[in-house]
Amino acid sequence: MDPFMQAAIEEAQQGLAEGGIPIGSVIVHEGRIIGRGHNRRVQQGSAIRHGEMDAFENAGRQSAQTYRESVLYTTLSPCSMCSGAILLYGIPRVVIGENQTFMGEEELLRSRGVQVEVVQDPTCVALMRDFIAAKPELWNEDIGE
Ligand SMILES: [Zn+2]
Repeated sequence: MDPFMQAAIEEAQQGLAEGGIPIGSVIVHEGRIIGRGHNRRVQQGSAIRHGEMDAFENAGRQSAQTYRESVLYTTLSPCSMCSGAILLYGIPRVVIGENQTFMGEEELLRSRGVQVEVVQDPTCVALMRDFIAAKPELWNEDIGE
């Protein structure tokens, strides 16, 4: 297991333990995690705190150069909001835990030159599958349905 995907999974598990949606993300620059986060929509009553957005926020204000040298790891295929942030800051590479439970904007990312890699990790799939089965209304709310 890639240690950075493992870190994203740990974030997702922490979110689940908090009663939230189990999606985690880390942003890695030069082999070091500069931002990590998990979905906090439920915990914070937030409209925007998806796992990737939380990782961006926790990374704080970074230079354009730093973003352009970073890799974003996320346990789930990124939605349109998070893909927008990835494109805005010019993140060149995204590693995705799985896209079986939700297909995000991977084609958009690829069309804009982002290197997208999907690992289909069984732990990531199980986290979402179990969560969607247990709390379908929370999940639908998260993706605007
Ligand atoms: Zn998102």
